[in-house]
Amino acid sequence: MTLSHADYQAIASKLKPNGQAFIDGAFCDAADGEKFETTNPASGDVLAEVAHCKAADVNRAVAAARRAFNEGTWSRAEPEERKEVLLQVAKLVREHAHELAVLESIDAGKTINDCMEEIGVEVPKFFQWYAELADKTFGKVANTGPGALGLVIQEPIGVAGAILPWNFPLLMAAFKIAPALATGCSAVIKPAEQTPLSTLRLAELMHEAGVPAGVINVIPGYGETAGQAVGLHSDIDTVSFTGSTEVGRMFMRYSGDSNLKVVGLELGGKSPFIVLGDAVMDDDLIDHAAMAAFWNGGQNCSANMRQLIAAPLVEEFSSRIVDRVRAFKLGDPLDPATDIGSMITRDHKELVMRYIQSGLEDGASKIMGGNSELPGHFIEPTVFQNVTPEMKIAREEIFGPVLGIMSVNSAEEALTVACDTDYGLHATVFTQDIDQAIHMARSLPCGTVSVNGYSEGDIKTPFGGYKQSGSLARDNGTEALEQYLQTKTIWIQTKAG
Ligand code: NDP
Repeated sequence: MTLSHADYQAIASKLKPNGQAFIDGAFCDAADGEKFETTNPASGDVLAEVAHCKAADVNRAVAAARRAFNEGTWSRAEPEERKEVLLQVAKLVREHAHELAVLESIDAGKTINDCMEEIGVEVPKFFQWYAELADKTFGKVANTGPGALGLVIQEPIGVAGAILPWNFPLLMAAFKIAPALATGCSAVIKPAEQTPLSTLRLAELMHEAGVPAGVINVIPGYGETAGQAVGLHSDIDTVSFTGSTEVGRMFMRYSGDSNLKVVGLELGGKSPFIVLGDAVMDDDLIDHAAMAAFWNGGQNCSANMRQLIAAPLVEEFSSRIVDRVRAFKLGDPLDPATDIGSMITRDHKELVMRYIQSGLEDGASKIMGGNSELPGHFIEPTVFQNVTPEMKIAREEIFGPVLGIMSVNSAEEALTVACDTDYGLHATVFTQDIDQAIHMARSLPCGTVSVNGYSEGDIKTPFGGYKQSGSLARDNGTEALEQYLQTKTIWIQTKAG
């Protein structure tokens, strides 16, 4: 249920966020007592002091996770028992949805409407969906001759690490934790330094729901300290990472330098939104184009920031998208009337402003936005026209509200431009021609292709990237379970025919 701005402000004023680490079923300080502050990006207010975890804390968390895994209270529990506890987690998240959504909104600068959708609806759905799978996934029996019985079983891999980004903090936590725990793994989670609070509160609720001590551990800290210690830890069996391609590469190296842990990567993108000449230029298409670019202020790995429009449609598309985007309200993320919140940090705002400057210097035409004089970390949604494929704003992931419109003369040219990138996360295609839609969907080298609407799919469909947008690992769907399972063959010789 959506509340009023005043109601959300009242909830925020009563929050007392706990920034301590959550290890072995209890909140605690970092071993050396160090702390850092987490602030509200929209106002600059300090929200909490957060435990600055480092290798010693990661060691403690991994030891607790390993002990819990070996004891088997969770890992070898009846699947129905894990299901019941994870369903209880879903219930508790729903009951605390307003509190968690406000906490997320003030820690991440995200709009309260998005936080309510992600936390009130999506996060509990994740726990519920993977809970329901816990007792419904089976191994296989090989097609052997009479002299053997070949069983192919899947076992929880052990201790799972998860490294989270700041753009969808609790949703990304659920992406990793729900399937990991459904399989029986124990988890050690490092939230982004900017947004640790909602994940810490989730851990507390999970403990209340009945997740045993040691099965869920949250160690807030910096990437170079806590994150690296997770990557290099030799008793972590798999690590699931969402963030930049640059840091994703580091996790591959950490694995090679330690125990060859499995590494699942969900990385960046520079995704195209393609409008072919026969597409119907209606309000629905414009709404999807605007959402594809500006949802979460463009701080979204699957944002469609290269919009490749059939040449005859470019002028109409540009003027209609500008009208649509001008209607977006920038402002206090806790106000339900706000459509776009704050950039995550001052540094990130400055990075995005440098991209806007580079677009201007490279000769793209700015047709709206780009004002750098707004207070705090806010950036007006910005739209460039006459963007060409070699420009920096057409090639690099900006991770802010900067849309580039490019003109294309044919579907084949759209494909060539769309494919000319190291990334391969997502693409959208608008066309009325079913054959063309299928041809484009099959030809685009990316993990998700969305036709006649911008969508990442839903919990039932796998999400991840081709090329340098990820590894073979997928979040969501039954595929997510694979990150946390390993396969064993049990080959039984039989005497009977
Ligand atoms: P990063 O990839 O730097 O951070 C993601 C996670 O990795 C965070 O928890 C971070 O910790 C951790 N990390 C950072 N450095 C290291 C390291 N050396 N070793 C181990 N872990 C590390 O993303 P940023 O948040 O800095 O954003 C930078 C860019 O990454 C964005 O502009 C965007 O392009 C992309 N990005 C993509 C996301 C996606 O959804 N695919 C999400 C977020 C960012 P900490 O933050 O605590 O330092």
